[in-house]
Formats: sequence, structure tokens, C-alpha cells
Amino acid sequence: MFYLSTRGQAPQVAFADMLLAGLAPDGGLYLPESWPQLSPSEMRSFKNTTYGETAGAVLSRLIGDSFAADELAADIASAYAGFEDKRIAPLVEIGPALYLMELFHGPTYAFKDVALQILGRLFARALKKRGGRATVLAATSGDTGSAAIAALGGLENIEVFVLHPKGRVSEVQRRQMTTTPHTNVHNIAIEGTFDDAQAIVKDLFAATDFAHAVDLTAVNSINFARIAAQAVYYFTAAAQFDAPPVFVVPTGNFGDVFAGEAAMRMGLKAEKLVVATNANAIMATALNEGVYAAGEAQPTYSPSMDIQVASNFERALFEAANRDAAYVRAAFAGFAKTRRIDLPDGIRAALAVRYDAGSFDDEKTLAAIARVHAETGRLIDPHTAVGVAAADKLDRKTGAPIVVLSTAHPAKFPDAVKKATGEIPPLPPRLKAMMGAEERYTVMAADKESVRAFIDAKVRAA
Ligand SMILES: *Cc1c(COP(=O)(O)O)cnc(C)c1O
Repeated sequence: MFYLSTRGQAPQVAFADMLLAGLAPDGGLYLPESWPQLSPSEMRSFKNTTYGETAGAVLSRLIGDSFAADELAADIASAYAGFEDKRIAPLVEIGPALYLMELFHGPTYAFKDVALQILGRLFARALKKRGGRATVLAATSGDTGSAAIAALGGLENIEVFVLHPKGRVSEVQRRQMTTTPHTNVHNIAIEGTFDDAQAIVKDLFAATDFAHAVDLTAVNSINFARIAAQAVYYFTAAAQFDAPPVFVVPTGNFGDVFAGEAAMRMGLKAEKLVVATNANAIMATALNEGVYAAGEAQPTYSPSMDIQVASNFERALFEAANRDAAYVRAAFAGFAKTRRIDLPDGIRAALAVRYDAGSFDDEKTLAAIARVHAETGRLIDPHTAVGVAAADKLDRKTGAPIVVLSTAHPAKFPDAVKKATGEIPPLPPRLKAMMGAEERYTVMAADKESVRAFIDAKVRAA
């Protein structure tokens, strides 16, 4: 199995090299050269396999011969050993044929653990085989940073730098990052916004001399290994139903919902993938109106979806354009100048085959939290609530089961939950322990030269 770039100007590479690189050298995103196929009977068998077994079956197809079967099995087992619910992605019925798929039982209580726990282990294994070291650099609006730290903290030959906007992540989110005991993790609080932090990261990746010198790599959802690991829970969920489900996905960077497209391209039957955004509606507008245009990100109760550039849309666009890399290259060259792509009718029609979309503001988010609480006694987090709001709007005449991806534990976002319900979700024990632990981070101006010098010095000293 080889990986190609959506921009068509990078050599094809094996899974392990794709994993270590993150972004393709031509600026595109990696995808499998062709989609492996699972048979209907194998997919039905996932009704009776464990999550780890299903993950092994799906991932082995995408990994090719980069890792042996027993290496993959060992990494899957240890990745999911630390989850508090052994089903990993349990379904919970909250209404007639309406389900939440809880993806937040990992170490940092957001769905990003499901992929990063396995990615971290495969990454360490690939690095050991290749030799050398890696510098992981990420900007975070909250959840990615802690999940990456939980996955990569303490690993050999890897230094991890996480930039978060000072004072703009919740206290729980900040402490999840800054109380790590691992000395290969370096937290930087940037005096600025998430967009400032993200811009520094992008500039440092673009500084190719520096990027090569420190072996810079990315583990955000531009890394296809994340998408691969997230495709697994679409299979485990669909196997529980007789009819193809509708999946409703709270969306920011379009990684999680694209994992649904990946599963469908591997043979999974789903009636629809519903893209649920908050007031930062770039993807809802792209899919409903045919205009992909980045504006100014606005803060909402669901901060992990406060994103104006949905990187993984490039993958969906490549597929919708029948893998026409020249089109994708031209579209993103234009986007770099105008911050806008006008989607041709043929591409809009191809996207509409699998995607529906809607945007839900803070008021609707709180209303969804309140309604689920009133009807079921359950507290849901504001990201999940955006999905529930989208599910409530669906035309349900086909009777298909609806599965809303529940992406974070409510205790990570107590303010919104309290505002909607008057209740404060109890902190799980792991989060409680962290609230008293010592914090370690460096405050820096939003200046890429200072960040670069900091990384340089730390990597040299490591
Ligand atoms: C990252 C995140 C999302 C958005 O996922 P994407 O893959 O970026 O679309 C939704 N909810 C939570 C809690 C997240 O952390």
C-alpha cells in the first residue's frame, strides 16, 4: 500500500514514511493510492469482534507491510488498554433510533485520543526502524495538544512542542497539557490567538531549512494515520444496525467526518454523513452554497471547532474531483491568494452524494444540551451538542438509525454545561488529580523567530 499526494507532485511513499512526514512535500495531503475493500460479510462480522480486533482488520489494510501483524496488534492493545470504557466507542440510545457514539473515554477525554494513542505508538515504532529523531510541532485550541502530549510524552528520540493561545483555553485544557511529567514535552503559551499560534506553526513548516534541520513533523489531522484510526469506529457502529446509519459529526478541521468518507470508500454503507458546524460555518457554507471561503474565526462554546480553514476538505475535494490533482493544486493556489474556492457544479454534486451540512450557533448549542438533559438526565458537551442540534433537524422519514459522534466529555467544558442545565459535570478522577499538579510552560510573544530559537535550543540540548 502506497500513499500519494492530493497535489500530485510528491513521490509515493509507504505508510510508515507517510506517518513520519505528516504533510506531503508538495504541500498536499496524503491518501492511499487506492482504497482497500472490505466485504459485506467481513463488515457484518464486526458486530461480534472487539474494538481492537476491528481496528486490526481495518488498519492492516491501510498499513500494508510497514508493520507486521503482531506489531500492529501489540500497539492497538496497548493504545486502548488505558480507556475507561473497554468498548472504546460505545453507542448510547438517547431517543428513538437516535444514538450517541461516545468517543471520549481515553486519557484526555476527547475523541482525539482514539487516533493519537495508536498513532503515537506506531510513530515511535516507525522512528526506531528508520533511525534518527523527530520534532513534533502543533498549535492547539485545546484538545489536540493534550491528546498529542498524552500519546507522545516520554517517547525516545521525539521532542514535542505545543503552542496554545495564552488565556484562551479552558483551565482544564491548559492543565491537561502543562502538568505532564515528561521532559520531552515543551508547552508554549503564545501571547495571541489560536490563529497567531497556527500561523507560527505554518511558517516554521514552510521554513524548509529549519524543518529539515530539526526533522519537523505534524500529528494533527493532516496526518492520514489519524484518519485511518478514526475510520474504525464508523465500522464498529454500522455493524450494530441492520440498516445503513446516518452519521452526524461535529466538525472543525473536517478530519473526523472525512474518516467517515474513508470508511465508505472502503465499502461501508452509510446513508449520509452530516457535517455539523458551530457559528464558524466554513464547511456548512461550502457544502450548501458551493463557496469555500475563510473568514475570521469567532469564539464559541465549542472551541475545538472554532476553525476557519478546514484542512481535510482538500482530501474530500480530491476525491470529488475524481482524483484530479491538477484541479486541487490550482484550487489551493487560488485559495492561498483569495482565501476562497468556488466549487464547480460537478464537484458540488459529487460531495452532495454523501454529505449534508448545517451550522448551529451558541444558543442552539445550549438548547441541545438542555434538551438532552431534560429528556434523558445525561450531560453532553457543547461539541456533541452541535451534533445533536443537527440531528434534531434531520428529515427522519427513512427511519435510518442516527449516530451522533460524541467528541468530548462534558467535564472538559463545565461553563457551557452549567449555563445550559444549572449543573456542573463531576470531574473524572484523572482530571481531578491534575487540578493540583505543578504546571510547566513558557510564555512567549507571537513571534516566529523566538519560537524557532526556542525549538532549536531544546532540540540541540535533547
Ligand atoms: C477536534 C474536535 C472536533 C472537530 O474534529 P475535526 O476532525 O477537526 O473536524 C470536534 N469536537 C471536539 C471535542 C474536538 O476536540
